[in-house]
Amino acid sequence: MLTDTHCHLYLEQFVRDLDEAIQRAMEAGVETMLVPGMDLETSREAITLAEKYENIFAAVGFHPTEAEKMNRESFAMLSKLAEHKKVIAIGEIGLDYYWVKETEKRIEQQQNLLPHLELANKVNKPVILHLREENDAESGDATNDLLDILEPWHKTLITLKSRPGVFHSFNGNLESAKRALEMNFFIGVAGPVTYKKNDSQRDLVRQLPLDSILVETDSPFQTPVPNRGKRNEPANIGLIADKIAEVHRTTREAVAQITTANANRLFGWEAYA
Ligand SMILES: [Zn+2]
Repeated sequence: MLTDTHCHLYLEQFVRDLDEAIQRAMEAGVETMLVPGMDLETSREAITLAEKYENIFAAVGFHPTEAEKMNRESFAMLSKLAEHKKVIAIGEIGLDYYWVKETEKRIEQQQNLLPHLELANKVNKPVILHLREENDAESGDATNDLLDILEPWHKTLITLKSRPGVFHSFNGNLESAKRALEMNFFIGVAGPVTYKKNDSQRDLVRQLPLDSILVETDSPFQTPVPNRGKRNEPANIGLIADKIAEVHRTTREAVAQITTANANRLFGWEAYA
């Protein structure tokens, strides 16, 4: 049984065959899928999917590249959505210095994070973090700014302290991963771990304990080898689990079991099964 902890199933790439894609995922052993929103509208769409499909759960939040859509009114509406029982996390939220280069807009992203973190604490649901550096570097200002915002927040947590969230599709170095693990964050591993040139990410994954890893497809993006060039979908999650298994010298079954248990521990969705 596998879990896809990050897939954007409401995007137009799935309009024509969503039911079939979900069917293929289930046939491939995907037990549960988590659909994070990127703004108010897609957060609502994620909830609609979660209401329709028993094995889909939702997260709500303003993605850093959608920062301009966040204001007092839209955030109040999002906060309402966060109380929905199939919303099990706040996200995806974070910092994106790849697409956003202006200092002012980067500061806006940082400021947007704070109410999301407060909301997570209030509704007792972990956060799903997006982190992307300028030029896709392994470390830099985005990583430092994000960790500097998270660390004081983490100190204030009580029940979320042991399960504050996940760094989705983590692309950073071991030093940043250690700072994240120090706060009990999970590390999301996606398709890039299968890319031929990505030895640095495989080296990183080798050094992460399996009980800190979540697997995710980030569908429809980041399609794993050998399906690169095609649309990604949750049924591909096994390709990522296989690569993690290879790197950790274990089996797909072991990776599936541990990472599914990790996801249950973080999101607490077993109660719905
Ligand atoms: Zn995403």
